[in-house]
Amino acid sequence: NRRIVLAAHPQGVPTPTDFRLEDTPVPVPQDGQVLLRTEWLSLDPYMRNLMEQVGPGYADPVPLGATMVGGTISRVVESRHPGFRAGDLVVGAAGWQEYALSDASGLMPVGDLARPSLALGTLGMPGFTAYVGLLDIGMPKPGETVVVAAATGAVGSVVGQIAQIKGARVVGIAGSPDKCRYAVEELGFDACVDHRDPRFAGLLAAACPDGIDVYFENVGGAVFDAVQPLLNVNARVPVCGFISHYNGGVAEGPDRLATWMATLLSKRIRMQGFIILDHYGTRFDAFRDDMAGWLAAGRIKVKEDVVDGLENAPAAFIGLLQGRNFGKLVVRL
Ligand code: NDP
Repeated sequence: NRRIVLAAHPQGVPTPTDFRLEDTPVPVPQDGQVLLRTEWLSLDPYMRNLMEQVGPGYADPVPLGATMVGGTISRVVESRHPGFRAGDLVVGAAGWQEYALSDASGLMPVGDLARPSLALGTLGMPGFTAYVGLLDIGMPKPGETVVVAAATGAVGSVVGQIAQIKGARVVGIAGSPDKCRYAVEELGFDACVDHRDPRFAGLLAAACPDGIDVYFENVGGAVFDAVQPLLNVNARVPVCGFISHYNGGVAEGPDRLATWMATLLSKRIRMQGFIILDHYGTRFDAFRDDMAGWLAAGRIKVKEDVVDGLENAPAAFIGLLQGRNFGKLVVRL
């Protein structure tokens, strides 16, 4: 059973030596357990936060020497649980390893998806995050301008496409000319601006002539600085993530807090953080129905970045934190 464990807490950007590939015996299921063989592993930005304990978290950090945590699609190899049979395909959280035991809590059948990995992306946690953050917090109205960063990624690409379905004007922000071309030509966004372009702030202002009504925050940092002056009165800012800060580093001065508080107040802006785990009980069924319908109707397009081999997961994950992925990053085992 090959698995990848946390070897060291990263200092800044994770490096390959923060991970270690180990080989251990395949575990044997006891009564009430199933043995799972991983077929797909999801790589997601939150895993960076679990590699060290930074302040109070919403999930337990991974201890040194333990298998890295992660969402998976697995095949049931052997079942000693009444709810599952050998051969079933399930979504769960088996982590960065080939085999895992589960007591079946948190396992869900994948169903008859033609592309099972969708259950880790557009039809899974990232798609659900986009749905709840945009619709319940962003609440875009027809004709409003919605801006989303990391616009071709797992969450951002779905945010932009749902916003279009709701009749909004959509402006993406992404990290290369290729990504921006994809956002406009394939996803149909009204515009997309490259945040690595030295003219970024001016280009974003030009792409948002009527200001910004909803800013879906995935990134923080310099991108947020450029967005902030463009926000309209009564704008909504769902705070989903701030990936540009995940690797630490000193904030660039000067201190902008007073300016931002004044903007927040005078423009009556509503900024709200959310953790998607809170919403499965109340919103997942509606999401699954809507998303299945949009996918079937071709109204939502999917782009996956598929990496082959468990041993390549660390490098792919390090790349995700620097924008080297193009689409939802998944590992095929
Ligand atoms: P993506 O597939 O979008 O991949 C991450 C992308 O972030 C990169 O491709 C890159 O895109 C961008 N990025 C990375 N570093 C930087 C940087 N320094 N500055 C600007 N952009 C950067 O990931 P996800 O869609 O899975 O996640 C998007 C966000 O959503 C993350 O912040 C994540 O933490 C958050 N999230 C929050 C959840 C919640 O419950 N609140 C649940 C799930 C995700 P580009 O090249 O275009 O810049």
